[in-house]
Amino acid sequence: MSADATKKEQIVISAKALERFIAAIFSAAGCETGEAQQVAHYLLDGNLTGHDSHGVIRTSRYVSWIGERVFPGREVSIANDSGNMVVIDGNFAFGQVVGPKAVELGVARAKKHGVAVVAVRDSGHMGRIGTWAEMAAEQGIVFISFVNVRSSLLVAPYGGTERRMSTAPFTAGIPVTGTDPIILDFATSAVAEGKALVALRGGKPLPADVLIEPNGKRSSDPRVLYGDVSPTQVANPMNGAGALRALGEHKGSGLAFLVEILAGALTGAGCAGPLPRAYANNMLAIFMDPEALNGNSGYAEEIRSYVEFFKSSRPEEAEGEVLIPGDKERALRAERLANGIPMSPGAWKDLTATALRLGLSEDDIARLTTD
Ligand code: NAD
Repeated sequence: MSADATKKEQIVISAKALERFIAAIFSAAGCETGEAQQVAHYLLDGNLTGHDSHGVIRTSRYVSWIGERVFPGREVSIANDSGNMVVIDGNFAFGQVVGPKAVELGVARAKKHGVAVVAVRDSGHMGRIGTWAEMAAEQGIVFISFVNVRSSLLVAPYGGTERRMSTAPFTAGIPVTGTDPIILDFATSAVAEGKALVALRGGKPLPADVLIEPNGKRSSDPRVLYGDVSPTQVANPMNGAGALRALGEHKGSGLAFLVEILAGALTGAGCAGPLPRAYANNMLAIFMDPEALNGNSGYAEEIRSYVEFFKSSRPEEAEGEVLIPGDKERALRAERLANGIPMSPGAWKDLTATALRLGLSEDDIARLTTD
């Protein structure tokens, strides 16, 4: 399939072609081929699972960060290792390089010790955190993570109007032998910042009241977060006068606060806090081998039967369905692998403008995006 304008004026492009295009952009931006492919591959995972906010829409921003917030060619190093507790220094490598290393280490240590805690400091943006939960679950390991974004003040606490937190995602993955894993993965802001970016670029509008203006008025206008931005300008969420709201009123705000502390303070990396500090994703992740906890206790069978019971709740709407965490992403992955990835014209323009700025030609773009 080629990049193709369709009804509703969306661009639809195959995952393979889009991945090739994004890898070419990162190569042109200074990444060696393998690294460019890895960054593209994991960004695509955001789009495939329906989290376009954490997909290729991030490309222009990642490219503009090179040499300041993220450095091609960097590797992780181990800052502290006591066997089942490891601190990884991401050294401002791409989060798509750091994430797989953290999972590889966490899974290996959980298989050895039963449980392991991996702290990650100073990583580039790690994208969709559910990707890392899925990777651990594929290897039979439970994953629970708390992630913050140091120096990224975006979210107002419950009862406040000024930014005090990052979007600090909470994520958990549970492997279920013989069936799909359970993957719960969300920002602790009312919506992830990237969803506001998607809306700003002409994609899906934001739900009501997820933003707050300085005067306390609730809003869904992404310019509250970004200010006025032209279609070819890199959108900076630090430029708006307002804030994202925390999810779930006082309870969600409390969870967000906790995630900031676990990911920011316990890792030694730093909370969202007052500026200036180097921007980074930081993660505290717990890896657990369920077999080591309770032997072969049949927990997977218990989960399967509970999922069936859970889903049997009568739907709220006639055509509705009760889903478990991870269902939506799985369905979208199958659909988008088969039919291609839809993108708004604004997001597509942002990508092609980035490619052209880096020296790719219109012909290069056409060749790369044609199956
Ligand atoms: P979201 O609001 O779409 O919620 C996703 C979660 O809810 C998933 O577990 C999904 O399976 C579940 N879900 C969705 N619809 C459901 C339904 N109808 N019934 C039951 N469960 C349902 O997610 P979000 O808050 O917009 O976050 C998007 C992504 O942003 C996540 O992947 C997150 O990791 C990522 N993120 C990353 C960072 C970072 O710093 N790297 C920061 C914030 C968010």
